Amino acid sequence: MALKIYYDKDADLGRLDGKTVAILGYGSQGHAHAQNLKASGVDVVVGLRKESPTWAKAEGAGLRVLGVAEAAAEADIVMMTLPDETTAAIYREHVEPNLQPGNYLAVAHGFNIHFGVIKPPENVNVFMVAPKGPGHTVRANYEEGRGVPSLVAVHQDPSGDTLQIGLAYAAGLGAGRAGIIETNFREETETDLFGEQAVLCGGLVALMTAGYETLIEAGYAPEMAYFETIHEVKLIVDLIYEGGVANMRYSVSNTAEYGDVTRGPRVIDADTKARMKEILSEIQTGQFAREFILENQSGGLQFSALRRRGEEHPMEEVGARLRELMPWLKEKRLVDRSKN
Ligand code: NDP
Ligand code: MG
Repeated sequence: MALKIYYDKDADLGRLDGKTVAILGYGSQGHAHAQNLKASGVDVVVGLRKESPTWAKAEGAGLRVLGVAEAAAEADIVMMTLPDETTAAIYREHVEPNLQPGNYLAVAHGFNIHFGVIKPPENVNVFMVAPKGPGHTVRANYEEGRGVPSLVAVHQDPSGDTLQIGLAYAAGLGAGRAGIIETNFREETETDLFGEQAVLCGGLVALMTAGYETLIEAGYAPEMAYFETIHEVKLIVDLIYEGGVANMRYSVSNTAEYGDVTRGPRVIDADTKARMKEILSEIQTGQFAREFILENQSGGLQFSALRRRGEEHPMEEVGARLRELMPWLKEKRLVDRSKN
C-alpha cells in the first residue's frame, strides 16, 4: 500500500478560521502544539488544572489559559495532550460533557481510542495528529522554520471534513514542511509503542547501560565508559540521521566498520529478535495497555520504583559531571524546565 504523504500545499490552514482550538495539558507536546498553532495564526486556548504550576508557564508564553472543562467547552477542536494513563478519567469528567455535535476531538497518540478506553459520541469527529518527535523538538524546529514529520489519522468523521481539519492542524504545527503521513489509529498505536519499547527508549537505554556496565566491571574508568557507550551514541546517530547507515560507515574508521559488521549481529541476535516479537505481540493483544493502565490505577508503585532505580544508576552522575566540562551543551537546550 502506497503511503499518502501531505505537505503544506495540500493543507488549508483557513479550515481553522473561526474555530477555537483547546490544547488540554501543557507538557512536552501541549506546549509545542499551543505555541506553534498560535504562531500559525490559530485561536488557541490552553486547558489546565487550576492548581497547576504549569499555568504560569503557558501565560508566560502569551497564551490564554482556562480550566480543562472551560477550555473544552469553548473550543470547536479539543486536543488532549495529556498523559495517556490519565486521559480517560479527565475525558470522562471534563471533556465529554462539554463536547457539542460536530466538534472535533483530537489526540497525539492513538492509545486510548484504539484500545477502546475512550469511546467518543458518534456525532463528534475524532482525529489524531502525532508528531514523530519529542514535543520540545516540535517547538524548536518550528521556530527555525522547519517541521517534524507527523502522522494524521481519522477515527470517525460525521462532519465529512475531519481529514482536512487534521491536515490543517498538522500544518499549523509545522508538520507540512516535513511531511504529514496518513495512517490509521491501529497502525500508529502499535508501531509507536513498539518503537519506544524495543528500540528508541527501552532497547537503546538497555544497550547503552549494558555496554557501560561491561566496561566498568572490567575495571575501566567511568568517564571513559560513559564517553564510549553513551555520549558518542549521539554522534553516530547524527551520521545515520543525515545519510543512513552507509553515511555513518563512510565516516568511521575501517576498524570501527569491521567491528560493526562482525560484532553487532552477535550483540543483537535472533534471540533478541524473538523477544522483540514477543513484545510486539503483547502490544497487539492489548496486554501492555492493560498492564500500564492497571499499574497506574493501583498507584504506580512499580513504575516509580523503576524510574528511581534508573535515576540512581551511577552512570547518570558520571554523565552530569562530564557535561559540566562541556558548557556549550547548555546553549540552546531543547528542555528548559522553567519554561517548557
Ligand atoms: P506530559 O506528561 O509532558 O504533559 C502532560 C500535561 O498534562 C501536563 O501539562 C500536565 O499538567 C497535564 N495534566 C496531567 N494530569 C492532568 C489532569 N488531571 N488535569 C489536567 N491536566 C493534567 O505529556 P506528553 O506531552 O509527553 O504526552 C501527551 C500526549 O502526547 C500523550 O498522548 C503522548 O502519547 C503523546 N505524544 C507525546 C510525545 C512526546 O514528545 N512526549 C510524542 C508524541 C506523542 P501539569 O503541568 O499541571 O502537571
Ligand atoms: Mg512515541
